[in-house]
Amino acid sequence: MKYDAIVIGAGPGGYVAGIRLGQFKRKVLVVEKKYIGGVCLNVGCIPTKALIHSAHLLSKIKNAKRTMGLKINDDISYDIETLRKWKDKAVNKLTKGVEFLWKSNGVEWIKGFAKILNENSVEVIKEDGESKIFETENIIIATGSYPAIIPGFEPDGKYIWTSDDAVSLPFIPSKLIILGAGAIGLEFAYIYKNLGSDVEVYELMPQILPGIDKEMADELEKILKKEGIKIYTNAKAKELIKENGKIKMKVEVQNKEQIAEGNVLLLAVGRKPYTAGLNLENINVEIDNRGFIKVDKKRRTNIKNIFAIGDVAGMPLLAHKASREGIVAAEVISGVENEYSPLAVPAVVYTIPELLTVGFSEEEAIQRNLKIKIGKFPFSANGKAVASDEIYGFVKIIVNEENDEIVGIHILGPEASSMAGEASLAVEKRIKAEDLGKCIHPHPTLSEAIMEAAENVHKRAIHIVNK
Ligand code: FAD
Repeated sequence: MKYDAIVIGAGPGGYVAGIRLGQFKRKVLVVEKKYIGGVCLNVGCIPTKALIHSAHLLSKIKNAKRTMGLKINDDISYDIETLRKWKDKAVNKLTKGVEFLWKSNGVEWIKGFAKILNENSVEVIKEDGESKIFETENIIIATGSYPAIIPGFEPDGKYIWTSDDAVSLPFIPSKLIILGAGAIGLEFAYIYKNLGSDVEVYELMPQILPGIDKEMADELEKILKKEGIKIYTNAKAKELIKENGKIKMKVEVQNKEQIAEGNVLLLAVGRKPYTAGLNLENINVEIDNRGFIKVDKKRRTNIKNIFAIGDVAGMPLLAHKASREGIVAAEVISGVENEYSPLAVPAVVYTIPELLTVGFSEEEAIQRNLKIKIGKFPFSANGKAVASDEIYGFVKIIVNEENDEIVGIHILGPEASSMAGEASLAVEKRIKAEDLGKCIHPHPTLSEAIMEAAENVHKRAIHIVNK
């Protein structure tokens, strides 16, 4: 019995590849060692967003009680056990959904650890030690990533957490130190701050969210600091000492040594490709110097019938990038012409306010020698934002001056994630600022801020004084 494809890993890369192969009536087997839905559904995107939703509600209700005269007699608080259950319920609903979709599309799956024996056979070792060999025409590696560790800061699940620990909400530490101000570090800073922790974030680079448009990152930093999260950039962690239920971290901030004290340290310093045990070295699948599997636009590795997708195949480490690659690999295997070459891969940081970024940052556009024009529009001048008491942040649109085409959109503001689709479409299709500005947006909506930022490129936004 030979499969058309064996997919290793059931995250948003692998499970989506499985479904698309099933839609094309390919005989497909997905092998997953731990959990359907991978990191994203179980300990990443979904549970963090469930917790952020609750934390945001909590803070909104407190504010509304103060500012809008809403009468809530009891103190606003929460029950951690119920909160955990609600988060797990969201995860279970979605992972069960994946299983249902596989079944409906004729996709088989098996729980076990996959080892590639050669380009046509995969050994699956089950939890009880039993192993079985499966033959296949193609293999898709979708094994994802795991949290990066700094020597001397090894996680112990008690004092030193990774995101896997933090997302399980073991308890709310009175003082939480977070190492790394990327999306994961900042999202947990927001969650734990709003659930009652004192939070300090330390970032090695000169700005939070390294690589993201600096003006947007700086504005988010200001807002988070105002909310009471302490943030230090240019901060190099040197040493960690555990002592009587506390941790002390020696850290050099702007070249001056200081001590950070807390109950828990959360390591959020990036993620690494997960290839352990796959046997890549013996079958000669090429990896780059950071350990990511090398792939071409069709997501083929150097071995023609072995594909790699998602986190294990390189940056950016995002669920929707993994899924798109899964679709490309599945279609190529099914004989459909396709390749992965997007202009726009949107990314969202789900703090409140949210930060959406798609296309070039201002710095990147300048680095590429583009002559640019910039349009901006603040949410403080947007009717819906004012009516919802969420008047922070702004939209920034970066345009190629030579042809008016939009090359980057960055939104810091309320529900920025729900405006990501329009921003992504504009950048992917290189829509002109003139045309986006002409497109009628309903009133009152937050999305009007995008239209007005596009109009501001030509100094014609209506609800601000154009500069
Ligand atoms: P994964 O989701 O990592 O899945 C890989 C699967 O392969 C795992 O289930 C693993 O058990 C399995 N596996 C590994 N080796 C083997 C083997 N040899 N045999 C069998 N199975 C194996 N991204 C977003 O786009 N939006 C977000 O909001 C977001 N939030 C995040 C929050 C957190 C806290 C974290 C940690 C990540 C977040 N991400 C987010 C990133 C996102 O989770 C990843 O980009 C995404 O999960 C990658 O998908 P994948 O399919 O490549 O791998």
